[in-house]
Amino acid sequence: MTELAALIESRPLHDPVLAEATDALPDHRILPDVSVLKIGGQSLIDRGRAAVYPVVEELVEAKRTHKLLIGTGGGTRARHVYSLAASLGMPTGILSEVGSAVAGQNATMLGYLMARHGVPTVGPSAFAVLAMHLREAGAAIFPGMPPYDLWHQVPERGTIPPYRTDAGCWLVAETYGCARMIFVKDEDGLYTANPKTDPSATLIPRATVDELLEMDLTDLIVERPLLQLVRNARHVREIQVINGLVPGNIRRALDGEHIGTIITGGEAA
Ligand code: ADP
Ligand code: MG
Repeated sequence: MTELAALIESRPLHDPVLAEATDALPDHRILPDVSVLKIGGQSLIDRGRAAVYPVVEELVEAKRTHKLLIGTGGGTRARHVYSLAASLGMPTGILSEVGSAVAGQNATMLGYLMARHGVPTVGPSAFAVLAMHLREAGAAIFPGMPPYDLWHQVPERGTIPPYRTDAGCWLVAETYGCARMIFVKDEDGLYTANPKTDPSATLIPRATVDELLEMDLTDLIVERPLLQLVRNARHVREIQVINGLVPGNIRRALDGEHIGTIITGGEAA
């Protein structure tokens, strides 16, 4: 029996020694040459044709040279259904289910816009064939909401699902050991405050998760629980937030240029 097998048989699965033993094992990156992009729901897709068509063009162009997994946000319709479901007394697991449906609608529409370029939309149950789609089409689209549905982690307070489409897209990138995670939204990156409501907000080009937690900003451009996930990451310890309303930004970020904001999980553990 290997040392690991002996440990796993003899210790509780939450045992720190066991955690250390699995921590020390070499990782296998499943799709190391793929870039994951999240196309914002409220920030981009809800703006309709004016914002979405140019982004589609950029994605089509980018997939000639980069393998792309494209996740979608939910946006205003997801917010509406959260407020409706919450007011009806629904629990987090149900909010998660109905919110997922909206990200799915956005993935469906984005998918049909890219269909003529051979790009498929896949739900979580079809993820096992992603490798084939990436080889054939160079890209695939997925709904960004993590499919926790009924089993969504209950938040400390309230009923809004804490892990939504930012977390969902990043989890895909991390699980598949992808090359990079780029959040495509409608601001030039993370600011010291929401620039839509605070004109004195300034851009933060680079920060670590610890620095951001220390700054304790009242509002972020990504879901707050994502920060902890990035800090615990084994593969995708860096995320980038860019402005998708600026032509060329998607290409620049995919080529590794530092535009927007880069948030890192800190030193590798
Ligand atoms: P998505 O469309 O991906 O769901 P969101 O609309 O949830 O994106 O988040 C993007 C929005 O976050 C921006 O449009 C911006 O108004 C807002 N925001 C809040 N806090 C900040 C901040 N500190 N810096 C930049 N943008 C922020
Ligand atoms: Mg959002």
